[in-house]
Amino acid sequence: MAENKVILDHIDDAGEQAIEAYQAHGGYKGLEKAMKQMTPAQILDEIKISNLRGRGGAGFPAGIKWSFIKRDAPGPKYLICNADEGEPGTFKDRKIMTSKPHIIIEGMIIAAYCMGLDTGYIYIRGEFFEPYQAMDKAIEEAYSKGFLGKNILGTGFNFDLHTYLGAGAYICGDETALMNSLEGKRGYPRLKPPFPAQFGLYGRPTTVHNVETFAAVAPIIANGGKWYSELGTPKSGGTKLFGISGHVERPGVYELSLGTPWKEFFEDIAGGVRGGKKLKAIIPGGSSTPVLLPHELEGMLLDYESIQSKGSMLGTGAVIVFDETTDMVKVAYRAMKFYAHESCGQCTPCREGCDWYYDILGRIYHGEGRIEDLDTLEDLAKYIGPNTICAFGDAFVTPMLAFIRKFRSEFMDYIEKGKYGLQAVLDAEKKSEEINHA
Ligand code: SF4
Repeated sequence: MAENKVILDHIDDAGEQAIEAYQAHGGYKGLEKAMKQMTPAQILDEIKISNLRGRGGAGFPAGIKWSFIKRDAPGPKYLICNADEGEPGTFKDRKIMTSKPHIIIEGMIIAAYCMGLDTGYIYIRGEFFEPYQAMDKAIEEAYSKGFLGKNILGTGFNFDLHTYLGAGAYICGDETALMNSLEGKRGYPRLKPPFPAQFGLYGRPTTVHNVETFAAVAPIIANGGKWYSELGTPKSGGTKLFGISGHVERPGVYELSLGTPWKEFFEDIAGGVRGGKKLKAIIPGGSSTPVLLPHELEGMLLDYESIQSKGSMLGTGAVIVFDETTDMVKVAYRAMKFYAHESCGQCTPCREGCDWYYDILGRIYHGEGRIEDLDTLEDLAKYIGPNTICAFGDAFVTPMLAFIRKFRSEFMDYIEKGKYGLQAVLDAEKKSEEINHA
């Protein structure tokens, strides 16, 4: 089993960022085909046939999302590329933006033409200064070649595209928080409905997609929706980028056909567990997806349905590998520190729940846990997930419960036996800092 490079094709070639190199490999051919040989309705049909689903985590079918926009409705309508890649463990969009930015721009122009949208924004994570510079340069090149601006390719269609650098808040990866941030407001998620297709940026119809989703559009149009769909499974069309990190021999970003067996990806392509150690667990799709144990990976395929049937999610395709030496209590505590820091604080169950989870996990980790702590965390979860404005509540509760349920004995060791105790934990932290600074 090998990689199947559609988006990543030529991505590591020197100079692939430049428009000339991109065009030499067939870049902007999809746009020409879309605008000169196809109607917007035909483009929409191809996207639907391709079975492309949103690659940012939710997996919503792109063709259905595009059909929510009324193409001929008067007034401004917006297209947004969500490049606020902040999910811990995820680093695939950064690679596309830095190394092959034109594939995103081309996909956005085709999408805008199909839906009749006049202005686009690429909202880039605050820490991503290099991708931000790469996107700005690529946009300038696309304008100079007449792919952006007025009367694109002589069709009379106008589309302007801008970048926007966020301020580094995880929650701005939520599409409605992102729109508030773009409007110059605090990045608070909005209640839905209304959905962005009706009331989006500046209250206008808006379509938002992740970087990788837009990157798939031009190859789909150039080669046909059926071609793309058949690269994957009947329900999960096409290819997907997987970023694998942690205790693995060959970490990195790989593009695979959806439906590729996990075992083949992990062992043949990524080289298995680093240093010949045993596998303890993986997180399959970014830190918001529940951890899976080795026996749960038996027969698992890398697609939306198969991972869901194992009790987790494909998410962003960010696989984090833990070997047998990993302290899962520490992993849970460290992940919770991130969520407690990133809750926007707008709704009480999430704001307070995050701190409670962090405090209780911290108490356990520092050898001061109480026997009832795990039940308290289970109980608390019932009041958080269903009672929040955005998905953040579920995004931290679900993986935390998975850690607690699947590694209960490790948590109990900390609580009951004071296995590590405060001084041992402090010693371990000091040692790890020394190693990091060595
Ligand atoms: Fe903010 Fe959390 Fe409420 Fe989402 S769930 S709006 S992150 S407080």
